[in-house]
Amino acid sequence: MVAESTPPSSLPRTDVLVIGGGPAGLHAAFYAGWRGLSVRLLEARTELGGQLMALYPDKTVYDAPGLPQTRAADLVRALEVQLAPLGVDVRTGTVARTLEPDGAGGWVVGTEGGRRFAAGAVILAAGLGALLPREARGEGVESHPDVRTELPDAAEFTGRRVLVVGGVPQATRAALELTDSGAEVTLTHRRAGFRGEPGELERLERLRVEGRLRVLSPAVLQRLTPEGAELTVNGEGVPVEADTVFILGGYLPDLSPVQGWPLGWEGGYVPDGPGGETALPGVYVVGDLARSGKDFKLLSLAFAQAAIAANHAVHHVRPELKVRPGHSSERGGYPVRG
Ligand SMILES: Cc1cc2nc3c(=O)[nH]c(=O)nc-3n(C[C@H](O)[C@H](O)[C@H](O)COP(=O)(O)OP(=O)(O)OC[C@H]3O[C@@H](n4cnc5c(N)ncnc54)[C@H](O)[C@@H]3O)c2cc1C
Repeated sequence: MVAESTPPSSLPRTDVLVIGGGPAGLHAAFYAGWRGLSVRLLEARTELGGQLMALYPDKTVYDAPGLPQTRAADLVRALEVQLAPLGVDVRTGTVARTLEPDGAGGWVVGTEGGRRFAAGAVILAAGLGALLPREARGEGVESHPDVRTELPDAAEFTGRRVLVVGGVPQATRAALELTDSGAEVTLTHRRAGFRGEPGELERLERLRVEGRLRVLSPAVLQRLTPEGAELTVNGEGVPVEADTVFILGGYLPDLSPVQGWPLGWEGGYVPDGPGGETALPGVYVVGDLARSGKDFKLLSLAFAQAAIAANHAVHHVRPELKVRPGHSSERGGYPVRG
């Protein structure tokens, strides 16, 4: 934690700070890094990819330019691979909450955890908002000692009895990761069938057949108890003992962490100029959050906005560099930063 009193000149500083690790933020970070600037990216979730990973990792996207029929999760992996050589400081699990001038033409962004980061320019790529896990609800939830809504690290659960509740892709993935880590896993969902990438679903079925993972679906979660849970399967009560219960119901967007920033908001949108500029000099907006794309919440638009805004941010921070990036095909390789 950095004390509120720490002067901006002593804070960790990059040329550009990107808020949001969805497709717009990842591509903006790529472009600023590609132009040779230092970049930090803050993402509220524990993984990158924004809506693609939180809401539809298993779905096929047909209209991403040059990538016919690509699964959303694969598209995110490709964006991460493209970004990797650029040395961007990526901080997942980090919610941006405050924005203040640094007194020298740049900005200081404060996080929910009390960290503060300085930057010459900020690119706001917060999409629909911070995608935070749905609250665990239901009878008896307070009675169980260890109920969670996210799985940060499966290795913590080796040897533990774990119940995973949910049919979303995160539930499938959590059940697989926990089984791989040596947890004793029961996976349950009220419907028959789970969502996930085809390879994950095949593995889920294989582990079930091998008896390494217990699957109870369709099943009704009646209540949690201090020892685990009571389910109904085919009309019969089935108690499940569990040291930890994961209730994974997907994610809900929350714009409130940034909605107090003086950006002239229009509902859930931030007005943007042709270069992605906002009402604040050196603060840019891209992707689903930008008003200009209101009726076109599309990946192709998010990528274009990210490229345009990042290159304007580059010129803002380093006026000696042109806004126009030139063609990557004429560069012959990733930049080397000194
Ligand atoms: C089910 C579904 C299917 C879709 N299919 C298609 C399709 O086929 N083709 C297409 O072109 N588009 C599709 N879209 C739309 C596309 O996913 C969005 O346009 C795109 O994700 C927008 O990218 P973004 O980076 O602006 O926002 P997001 O993807 O929403 O990413 C924003 C990120 O910022 C993070 N964030 C927000 N606030 C903060 C904060 N304060 N601090 C730190 N991090 C924060 C969020 O956690 C999130 O990860 C689909 C959308 C959905 C929901």
